[in-house]
Amino acid sequence: METIKLSQLITWLEKTAKYMQENKEYLTELDSAIGDADHGFNMERGFNKVIGKIEELKQSEDAAALLKGTGMTLISSIGGASGPLYGTFFLQASMVLKGNKELTLEDLKASFENGLKGVKSRGRASLGEKTMIDVLEPVVASLVTSTEKGLTINEALENIVNVAETGMKSTINMLATKGRASYLGERSVGHQDPGATSSCLILKALKESIN
Ligand code: ADP
Ligand code: MG
Repeated sequence: METIKLSQLITWLEKTAKYMQENKEYLTELDSAIGDADHGFNMERGFNKVIGKIEELKQSEDAAALLKGTGMTLISSIGGASGPLYGTFFLQASMVLKGNKELTLEDLKASFENGLKGVKSRGRASLGEKTMIDVLEPVVASLVTSTEKGLTINEALENIVNVAETGMKSTINMLATKGRASYLGERSVGHQDPGATSSCLILKALKESIN
């Protein structure tokens, strides 16, 4: 059975950190239009902390411990709304995995499904409110479909990257009704959501780590 190995999950975290460094200015620029210009800084700081702990994380017994360690690090190191939300995603994603040394597509689906559930219950945002949910929810739906169709992990990851990009772009025309961007009301329309953009980068990093 085709699986995602722990070493590939480590590569995912490293690649994500690299993406956050490379896109720090871009994410901050997006956040300056509809927020407080700190999203790039927040994401870079959070994933740099994860990388600071990478040797410790590499010792994780299983995928649950790895994702839990990542979530805890993000919660404790990123300020702003996104830290607790991404932290919750990784933490909740870890909760449904029990002793997995590697993940099947079914495991990844179950894990992301629970991660999304956590973000939604913590942030109380739903689809169409111009947040990271506009990427994460279609991604989970795509994973469900891919699992049902019996696609390979690579095919499923290719699909989630496409769906994530579409979700990210869909936020441009949305009116923000959650988070800091909601203070702008109608003026939030016409700008891409920073959190949806960082989510898209995280998913791209995942795909590239598995190929
Ligand atoms: P802050 O808004 O506190 O400055 P960041 O700038 O780091 O935090 O993150 C902003 C991003 O967080 C937004 O672009 C949005 O995607 C996401 N976000 C904000 N509030 C919520 C929420 N309630 N649910 C889901 N995502 C949210
Ligand atoms: Mg901000």
